[in-house]
Amino acid sequence: MSIVRVALDIPLHTLFDYTVDEPVVVGQRVIVPFRHRSMVGLVIECEDTTSVSLTRIKPVSRVLHDIAPISDSLLKIMKFCSDYYHYPIGQSVMSALPASLRGDKPIPIKSVPNYRLRADIPSFETVSSRKVVARRLLEKLALHSCTRDQLNRLSTSASAQLNWLIKEGWVEEFDSPVQRQSIHTFSCAHKLTGEQKLAVDGVTKSSGFHCFLLHGITGSGKTEVYVHLMDEVLHRGGQILLLVPEINLTPQLEGYFLSRFPDTALVSLHSGMSDNARFQNWQRAQTGVAQIILGTRSSVFTELPQLALIIVDEEHDSSFKQQDGLRYSARDVAIFRANGAGIPIVLGSATPSFESYHNAKTGRYSLLTLTGRAQIEARLPEIKCIQIKQTVMHEGISVVLLHDIERCLARGEQSLLFINRRGYAPVMMCRECGWLSDCKHCAGKMVLHLKEKRLRCHHCGYQLRMPTVCPGCAHPELHPVGSGTQRVESILQSRFPDARILRVDRDSTRNKRAWQKMRDQIHANEVDILVGTQMLAKGHDFPALTLVGVLDPDGALYSGDFRAAEKLFAQLMQVAGRAGRSDKPGTVLIQTEFPDHPLFRFLQNHDFDGWAALQLAERRMAGFPPFAFQVILRAEGMSESEVYAYLNQARQAACELKYPVDILGVVPATLARRANHIRAQLLIQADTRRDLQQFLHAWQPHLDSIAMQKLRCSLDIDPLEF
Ligand SMILES: [Zn+2]
Ligand SMILES: [Zn+2]
Repeated sequence: MSIVRVALDIPLHTLFDYTVDEPVVVGQRVIVPFRHRSMVGLVIECEDTTSVSLTRIKPVSRVLHDIAPISDSLLKIMKFCSDYYHYPIGQSVMSALPASLRGDKPIPIKSVPNYRLRADIPSFETVSSRKVVARRLLEKLALHSCTRDQLNRLSTSASAQLNWLIKEGWVEEFDSPVQRQSIHTFSCAHKLTGEQKLAVDGVTKSSGFHCFLLHGITGSGKTEVYVHLMDEVLHRGGQILLLVPEINLTPQLEGYFLSRFPDTALVSLHSGMSDNARFQNWQRAQTGVAQIILGTRSSVFTELPQLALIIVDEEHDSSFKQQDGLRYSARDVAIFRANGAGIPIVLGSATPSFESYHNAKTGRYSLLTLTGRAQIEARLPEIKCIQIKQTVMHEGISVVLLHDIERCLARGEQSLLFINRRGYAPVMMCRECGWLSDCKHCAGKMVLHLKEKRLRCHHCGYQLRMPTVCPGCAHPELHPVGSGTQRVESILQSRFPDARILRVDRDSTRNKRAWQKMRDQIHANEVDILVGTQMLAKGHDFPALTLVGVLDPDGALYSGDFRAAEKLFAQLMQVAGRAGRSDKPGTVLIQTEFPDHPLFRFLQNHDFDGWAALQLAERRMAGFPPFAFQVILRAEGMSESEVYAYLNQARQAACELKYPVDILGVVPATLARRANHIRAQLLIQADTRRDLQQFLHAWQPHLDSIAMQKLRCSLDIDPLEF
């Protein structure tokens, strides 16, 4: 009999001891009894002895053998997360595993059948030449055996044709033991530019762990650099983890990489997939079958025995940071992972985060830059500011912009209006009594969605029928204040009744396939004017787009969040990058009250370096990241006095510890009330990561001792949102 120490999904910073009669190894899943129920856990340590009395230790109910044990290297990453983000070990481990592995039953492992040609079949010529797809399948199978998924990539009717070929005796199914594809063809039609080649060589000639920042303007061909790096790794038989920020981008990227590596086993991992599909792909990665893993944030925890390269695309994107539970940054965990595995990692962006940029400038990372657009004829767009105080405005849109849209329509080119606010208007108002559409559950306003005739709170989801008279004074007229995507869409529709206008925001793309369909419409030139939020800014290539109008960006210029300007610059650079990507030059018009703001000046010159230098100098003066390391303790609950009492006690305990950290005051959160919960926070910062971590390790037991059942509390290390 031996003792196992098991990680369980329990909010305590400890492992749990059990006895076990059969052989067990670290990384195996076990079912154990825990407080009258049965739970799945992961064996973290195997021991011969325990400090707990043997009579009090319960036996493991069952050892699961369905999948190979979690590897030491992945366990190390899970432990790092628990330690660095100060999140209970069991919960860290469980949030890193795919959902299917968190159930208390073994999962039936289905082997994926393979298909091959039968021996002694006649020449393919005997298949009717009208059966084009069937012939293509035969030709493919003559090269190597395939799974149904691989064949489905050849044609939409591949599956039906495969069934026909099986029925007619051409093809047979067989269960193969897991086998890696040895054949790897690479569609290398694109020749690298000088800069791209330097970047590729820089990475391939490095050895061991090395972090690269690939800073390339939009359209400079970062993806082409990725493709060449991946090709090199595939030749060596290695696996590649490619992290991307958006689920929306995965199908598009998947298609692209498959077109470049048609015979490569590529799998996607993202939250839009079913648990089962996700587990299947996770397992293909674990068994080494999958060579390229394309995934969002949580795929950084995929088991990858042959991992040889990690790429984090759009590394600056805040969606790499998990905002609840284990609040990890997938980019930072990926760097830790690459370091542990002794492999290179490439962080790619047109607008790197100031953290990464600073690390590259100070020599911790190697900086690789792409300054030219890959297509020589493609020029950078011209960016102009429109001073809204000095121009005639038509319901929030300047006449200059309207004229340009009109000219674009006449030339048959696309234009895009970017406004980062969905709905019709962000608030409704009564001019008689000053009533505003406050949410009764939050500190925020209810947004008017005119098409649905509803007021909706974007924070808590509460909604109401649109009032017909003022709820305050019964005045019959209420006014929408400000603009959202719906309002811009309707203003444009009445101004340009014949134009085909498409609105792209979270409301219009709620349906799973909607965005895919919209993208096809845009590419087929079935759209004249696009109105959209930041969804439209990210990584899409719209060749007919030549005009971008930016409405209302000013909120971020003087925001209390010190990262707001960094985010705005990145967003505008991305949107601007959409204009004029093929042979047509693009124009960007920004409507602002502050055309002389440095952000716009650097943006007009496409000067990220200048902007970053200015911002970093300001951050250094103010003692903000990357020159300081931060943690936020957040608390929320129904009772205001409890929330503040808890945070004040936590602050008191922090002060008494006497560590070299700055402890700020307890303040309300940016949204001080959400869904009837009072929210407040305490910010603490240190000059070094080490000081902060040492402090946190000392503070944690105090936090545990003052924890209150009724409050929801969390530590957010390296927070991105305030
Ligand atoms: Zn609300
Ligand atoms: Zn009123």
